[in-house]
Amino acid sequence: MFIEEYIQRKVKRLIKKAGTSNPEGIIKTRLKSADFKYVPLCKNINGYYIYISGKKKIIRVNSELKGAEKQFVVLHETGHCILDHRGIILLDRSNSISKLKEEYDADLFAACSFKIYNNINKFNLNNICMPEYIRSLVNKFL
Ligand SMILES: [Zn+2]
Repeated sequence: MFIEEYIQRKVKRLIKKAGTSNPEGIIKTRLKSADFKYVPLCKNINGYYIYISGKKKIIRVNSELKGAEKQFVVLHETGHCILDHRGIILLDRSNSISKLKEEYDADLFAACSFKIYNNINKFNLNNICMPEYIRSLVNKFL
């Protein structure tokens, strides 16, 4: 199975169980083990994820983020949680594309959820305001 297909299944199941595709709504209803907060972080850090145990995970998202980027980062950190990444602190920088598999998978997870939440299809993809790297990831699910 392609990774995109695997991720898409995970996302669809999660949204169905949560009863919402709203990023914060998903965290509230489905990620009970996650301690989630918006906090002020350096400009070049979007957020981070720390796995402590199956019952405790920490998610922090930069409170300065807005719009599409904010949604995307919340969904990216949710992806780390749902894909059960553990053992390392995953720090998400804003201006570097990470080579880590965990980061790429969390980005795919975020792109797929972002597409559903914003009702993006191949006809409106270019009319919606979002950074180019998000657009190219979303495009993988269209
Ligand atoms: Zn990450």
